[in-house]
Amino acid sequence: QIALTAGSSAALTAISGPMAAGSPAGMPMRGLVCTETIIVSAAVRILLAEDDRMLSEAVARALRQLGHTVHAVAGGRDADDALAAAEFDLAILDLGLPQLDGFEVLKGLRARKSALPVLVLTVRDSVDDLVTGLDLGADDYLTKPFQLAELEARVRALIRRSQSGGMPQLVHGP
Ligand code: CA
Repeated sequence: QIALTAGSSAALTAISGPMAAGSPAGMPMRGLVCTETIIVSAAVRILLAEDDRMLSEAVARALRQLGHTVHAVAGGRDADDALAAAEFDLAILDLGLPQLDGFEVLKGLRARKSALPVLVLTVRDSVDDLVTGLDLGADDYLTKPFQLAELEARVRALIRRSQSGGMPQLVHGP
């Protein structure tokens, strides 16, 4: 990881918009990664609901290295309780969870009128699950197995989208 000083963040911030708009998901540019980390690292609270312990720890570690606060739970009931009780900026939700599956957690969240960005994790080839998840209000998805870099790119995109009020990103023009 490249460490940037506070002084360097301002200059990089100025170019983050256009670069972000032109950067395809999953292909982060080195400079862009660092810039956005600085912009969003201040107060991003992430709920991570994943019962695969190794995966959960790897994801939590990667997100914490980016400066995010991660609350990890392994069951759907715990995820539901946490989402109802605390403020988060993003939820990463495995669909196959014990206690209460990811669909139910998502359903409960949207029933409470929460607009929290949700990234669902699902196993490859379970297209029906994916469609159901999106129908229930997931904002994006990742199929397992995935690269941590791809997860980080999706997280950045969701945070950027929600912080800009859901409006489209900067458009190139004269
Ligand atoms: Ca699972």
